[in-house]
Parts: sequence; structure tokens; C-alpha cells
Amino acid sequence: MKAHSRNEFGRIVFQLHARKARKLLALARIGGPLPRLSKEWREEKIDELQDLVERAHLPELKRWVRRNAELEEVRFKGRSAKDSKAFEVRDRVLKRRGKRRHVVYVSFRNKKCLKVGKSNRGLGRITSQVDAYYFRDATRVRVYFPMHHRKRFLPALECALTHLCRPYHLYKWPESKSYLRQCPACKDMKLVRKLVKKLFPA
Ligand SMILES: [Zn+2]
Repeated sequence: MKAHSRNEFGRIVFQLHARKARKLLALARIGGPLPRLSKEWREEKIDELQDLVERAHLPELKRWVRRNAELEEVRFKGRSAKDSKAFEVRDRVLKRRGKRRHVVYVSFRNKKCLKVGKSNRGLGRITSQVDAYYFRDATRVRVYFPMHHRKRFLPALECALTHLCRPYHLYKWPESKSYLRQCPACKDMKLVRKLVKKLFPA
């Protein structure tokens, strides 16, 4: 973890401690009256700590993706019609890479990631979502091809790219169980939640 994140992490843990010991601190009038340690506030702090832990894993995940997947990027020109972008992606990938069964796709509107998705049934999964905003509004789509065809590899790639791109369209994190052994970022993020709940009951 980088120095700035480390300090931030420590500051949040201190805030948690201070709320837990608020009555004790109040006796000495240290820090002014503190509110109770509520579940909602604790949830916010868990989010913040998880973000810091996730960020610390990104360089390693980035290297892992680079080593284990090939990439094809399709950028849309001004003339691309909204309702043909998903087909443009399919056609470009077919032309340059041939038929692919396992893919993870990531759509962006400028720098903002709209969606990370996967398919183990080829590129039809992309064209079937031609009307989704994350293809219609995209300015570019990246398609990743895993270099291994082990069954668990595809969710692993999706999980890593979800951490790296933080899509706007995030309903749930991919199952970390299926990330080879376990995704290192998901594992630590879960541990943060478990430890905070145990140490700071609310
Ligand atoms: Zn993960």
C-alpha cells in the first residue's frame, strides 16, 4: 500500500476506535462529543477501507491481465450509428482475431467505464445487447481474450477487469470463488469487512 493510502487507512481505523471509546474520551473532553458508532456510519468506513485495499491491488491485477489476455480495442468514429456499435465490435473482432468463444468486454464512454461483461458462447453475447446504453453510448469497447481456456479463467478475467475499470453498471461483483483460487483483491476486501465488524460491533 502506498504511503498516502496507508495514512488514510490508519486515520479511518482511528476514527472507528474513537467512536467505540467515545464515552471514555468524553470524560477527558478529548475530541469533543462523538456520535454513537452506528451501522450506517460503519458501513461507510468499511467502503472507504475496501477502496484503499482494492487500490493497492490494482498494479498486480493489471500485470496479471496483461500476461494472461490479448486485447482488441474498437474505437467508434463520428459516423458510427448508435444501434450498430455492437455489430461493429463483432465484425472487427471476427476480422482481426477470428471466431472466439471466450471473451470479456469492457465498454467506455470517453474515460468512464460503463460495463464489464463476459461471454463463454462467443460474440453473439455482445450483439444481443445492441440496444443497451453501454453499447449505444460507448466511444470505445475493449475485448479481451483469455490465453487459457480453463473454465475458471473467464470469471477471473472479468473480476480483475471489474476492479481495474470500476464500471458504472455494477450490479454485483463477479463470484470470487471462481477466480482461480481466489481473487486477491476480493479476498482482502472481504477480510476488511469481517474484521471491522468483529472489532467494532455496532
Ligand atoms: Zn476480485
